[in-house]
Amino acid sequence: MRIARFSIDGNVAFGAVEGEGTVDSGDLVLDIIKGIPYADFELSGVKVPLNKVRLLPPVLPSKIVAVGRNYAEHAAELGHSVVDEAGRPEAPLTFFKPSTSVIGPGDAIAYPAFSSDLHHEAELAVVIGRMCREVPPERVKDVIFGYTAANDVTARDVQQREKQWARAKGFDTSCPLGPWVETELDPADLTLQCTVNGEQRQLGRTSDMIRPVADLIAHISEAMTLLPGDVILTGTPAGVGPLNVGDEVAVTIEGIGTLTNKVIKRG
Ligand code: MG
Repeated sequence: MRIARFSIDGNVAFGAVEGEGTVDSGDLVLDIIKGIPYADFELSGVKVPLNKVRLLPPVLPSKIVAVGRNYAEHAAELGHSVVDEAGRPEAPLTFFKPSTSVIGPGDAIAYPAFSSDLHHEAELAVVIGRMCREVPPERVKDVIFGYTAANDVTARDVQQREKQWARAKGFDTSCPLGPWVETELDPADLTLQCTVNGEQRQLGRTSDMIRPVADLIAHISEAMTLLPGDVILTGTPAGVGPLNVGDEVAVTIEGIGTLTNKVIKRG
């Protein structure tokens, strides 16, 4: 099921997406959900055309835990190795993006004044469905609510200049999520793509992840409690590159859909 979060008549609601097509196609309908998607809910049967409402971020996470260098080709393009001197895989690199970095489909990425090298990073995002800690890899599927598309927008110059990445990857609007959460999906081998103004920049497969989703969640939950709605970003494939004011950036993940955002100058 695809579950979208949206605004209607000044209220926030969740709805199940019905039909096939893109966000703007006019072919999609939302069946409004009664209850909370993370717990018991039912479909109300009250339907609204999706292109007549404003989609919101599909989830408001308490935290976003992101993983770096999870695709070898991308690590190499930034000059990093993913193995230690003995040839053993390095532990996954993790960092936070704050809840205030989240925007939804169609929202603007505001280019911050302190950077002059903003990059796109197309990523599969995992949405947690249950409070959990110390989840063994074989039980990770029990704590996953679903999957959505993400753009781990990064101020590359700031990232290289500052030791911690809080500003480079945590500024307002640096975490577009959407367009909805797909709850029935096998994340093992999906195409993920990023285009800028319709031109392909990134193309990868989740099967190229160094560590699959189950290992990442086991690793992160070894350290911290994950709450319903928390988001795990699973790393980006090769092809990251600059975004400029006026660009339209789109992240498409097979089985989920397309997340599109425009870049504007921060006012
Ligand atoms: Mg990333």
